[in-house]
Amino acid sequence: MTENLLELRKLSKHFPIHSGLARRVTGEVRAVDDVDLIIKRGETLGLVGESGCGKSTTGRAILRAIEPTSGEILFHGKDGTVDVAQLGRTDLKQIRRRMQMVFQDPYASLNPRMRVEEIIAEPLICLERMSRGDRRDRVVELLELVGLNSQYLARYPHTFSGGQRQRIGIARALALAPEFVVCDEPVSALDVSVQAQVLNLLIELQQRLGTTYLFISHDLGVIEHLCDRVAVMYLGRIVEVADTEALLRTPKMPYVEALLASVPHADPHAVTAHAIVRGEIADPANRPTGCAFHPRCAYATDVCRSVAPELRNVGTRSNPHLAACHFSETLQLNGVA
Ligand code: SF4
Repeated sequence: MTENLLELRKLSKHFPIHSGLARRVTGEVRAVDDVDLIIKRGETLGLVGESGCGKSTTGRAILRAIEPTSGEILFHGKDGTVDVAQLGRTDLKQIRRRMQMVFQDPYASLNPRMRVEEIIAEPLICLERMSRGDRRDRVVELLELVGLNSQYLARYPHTFSGGQRQRIGIARALALAPEFVVCDEPVSALDVSVQAQVLNLLIELQQRLGTTYLFISHDLGVIEHLCDRVAVMYLGRIVEVADTEALLRTPKMPYVEALLASVPHADPHAVTAHAIVRGEIADPANRPTGCAFHPRCAYATDVCRSVAPELRNVGTRSNPHLAACHFSETLQLNGVA
């Protein structure tokens, strides 16, 4: 088995823009554009960026919850490698046993008309042949795994707090013992007091089950707490990938420096030494030429306006640090202290 569980190669998801009475296609939104990314077995890879940068679309495209436009999604399982992007209906159903998702909104992701037992048992009913008794035992086991009382089986979602609902969502995602879980902002809709409980639960489950997570978030504090490595997206592309500590302390791409500078500081009188990111993220239907970040970048030069930088290793062979900037080696960028 390889060290890598999942490899994205030139993964893209473009949405057509229709206009006029005839609804003709007049353009496309490149929500995910030629993304290359490796997710290692057993790690938590954080995927961060501003709203609208394409991180949730990437997560959904990996699971084929939305159909990718092009590219490969190579899943290196125990029994060989499959390209998830090419799977037919029956094979896709099988691979979904091994790849699951925890959704952002625990209020919208649980059907209010279903009891807890039915919600958690749903993947087992769809994808596993089990007797009714075995299924109930498995649901009880999962409820206990996520720290909920097995007496809650007959209750409906509205009787639970946000944190408890998210635990139910996690239990449902783990029902088939998947190797890979996409966690799409799983704590952003929760109170701060509950966020730590859910994050610690995810860490504990990973240690017990060896699950690999793609953790999508815009909260760098949460990313620092949970992730082994971090990938940063800007306008549908990956612009930096490194170990969490290296990326936060020594960023190699000005967008990441600006993102780190935007994190609110506990001390209101603390002076930020570098510029917070300016302006709005550009229109993904109308990408700027050259480096897509150049209209907002404090370090942009003429070459940035005409030549798109490649994502390349500016670290070492044993400790890679990928960055998409022409000047990664020469710029002295500030990370978090
Ligand atoms: Fe800024 Fe140029 Fe680097 Fe892009 S390539 S991040 S515009 S310095």
